[in-house]
Amino acid sequence: MPCIFCEIAAGRAPASIVYEDNMALAFMDINPINPGHVLVMPRRHFETLSDMDETTGMHVFQIAMRVEQALRNVEEIRCEGTNLLMTNGAVAGQTEFHAHLHILPRFQGDNVRFRFAQAARPERHVLDQLADAIELAMQ
Ligand code: AMP
Ligand code: ZN
Repeated sequence: MPCIFCEIAAGRAPASIVYEDNMALAFMDINPINPGHVLVMPRRHFETLSDMDETTGMHVFQIAMRVEQALRNVEEIRCEGTNLLMTNGAVAGQTEFHAHLHILPRFQGDNVRFRFAQAARPERHVLDQLADAIELAMQ
């Protein structure tokens, strides 16, 4: 089955486009969590964030920043705050496997709830050890 987001990028599937350029586009989520829910994605098919090159990732984030700012100035959209969310992998809730960043307007009394099970706070040496391991992996 063809990737629906590739189809949107190619103009072969319908989408309500907010912004587009030669590298990325922003469009309305077809099934919004709140009104004004926008997705930003690269034109090229990358499955997840870790498949994407940094130039593309930076560009996607730059567009997301501009959309986020704009949402606050649209009269029809209640935007008192936002969440930016990216699902990478099915385990993280990804259902469309063409990398995309959600921009979700939030307002007082909306029905969005993020719930995280509270783990016990690790000791400092455990955090230090993980920080070192991640730092090493970044090189
Ligand atoms: P995710 O769980 O991060 O993979 O989310 C995929 C998102 O894509 C969901 O919020 C869907 O509502 C949205 N979506 C799926 N198909 C389309 C489409 N054709 N146009 C716009 N948004 C879509
Ligand atoms: Zn795709």
